[in-house]
Amino acid sequence: MKRIAVFTSGGDSPGMNAAVRAAVRTALSNDITVAGIRYGYQGMIDNDFVEMEDHSVSNIIQRGGTILKSARSKDFREYEGRKKAIENLKADNIDAIVAIGGDGTFRGATELYQEFGLPVVGVPGTIDNDLSGTDETIGYDTAMNTAIDAIDKIRDTADAHERLFLVEVMGREAGFIALETGIATGAELILLPEAVSRVDDVRESLNEVFKVQRRSSLVIVAEGDETGGAIKLAENLKDDFEKYEMRVSVLGHIQRGGAPTSRDRVLASRLGSAAVQALVDGHSSIMVGVVNNKLKLTPMKNTWSKKKSLNYELLELAKVLS
Ligand code: ATP
Repeated sequence: MKRIAVFTSGGDSPGMNAAVRAAVRTALSNDITVAGIRYGYQGMIDNDFVEMEDHSVSNIIQRGGTILKSARSKDFREYEGRKKAIENLKADNIDAIVAIGGDGTFRGATELYQEFGLPVVGVPGTIDNDLSGTDETIGYDTAMNTAIDAIDKIRDTADAHERLFLVEVMGREAGFIALETGIATGAELILLPEAVSRVDDVRESLNEVFKVQRRSSLVIVAEGDETGGAIKLAENLKDDFEKYEMRVSVLGHIQRGGAPTSRDRVLASRLGSAAVQALVDGHSSIMVGVVNNKLKLTPMKNTWSKKKSLNYELLELAKVLS
């Protein structure tokens, strides 16, 4: 293997830059040249390649976002788009690719492998932590810390005004961010996509909370929760909790930005490097992850087809502690 390409795709996550840096430097130290593809799969189709040298990845380990940019590409979902992409890769003598992203990115990479036999290795880069084969994905820890920081501030004002706050956190159809931030901020209630929550149940639980003379209260709502998210839930509850002055805060994209935590920088460095090593060792169509602090290779398809389980012990713990 003489030349690889590296790219970031789908939703960006803090630590992607650290992963790019690790992949580039590991490749160069193995005498493998590297093309960086800008704008994910769309850049692959548009031939938006840049040569990555050692200095190209200097001073980026601490930066959020991704220097290679990210995108969602409709064209790549079609065979014609992927054919164009593979032609561009071939023209640039790319032997293999390192794909940094979430499950969509891995589905796309799997298509390239199956249709054209291109060796692909995935690096889990998403704040949602919803990929099997790794205890944590790159960006998850930073996103949680950002959410916790914001929620602590909300807690102060909620307390001052004795308000009930519904705070929505990201995570798509997965409740990992909601569960851990809920525990870490001492939320009275945590609503997760994985644990069916109906508006009536929420009402009942909150009534219980206020029975014990709670004056301010915090509910963490995962964006993919069945109640439809914090705004909709507030609309459905407002008549019942009028006297508590309900407020809603949707944290949104602040959770995707910012400097990665040390945990994400180290994880990204390990995984970016391991991805290139896996290619050197002849692996393909796998994702690199860390399980119980050890590097692990998982067939790419299993990362999305085998649903990653929440730690339900934490959910029970949250109920006891709230
Ligand atoms: P995140 O979950 O953090 O947003 P992601 O990688 O899942 O990240 P997606 O937008 O789902 O983000 O996927 C990224 C890109 O991968 C898509 O824009 C599309 O170009 C490509 N892709 C996704 N699914 C497929 C598929 N089934 N076949 C081919 N390409 C796909």
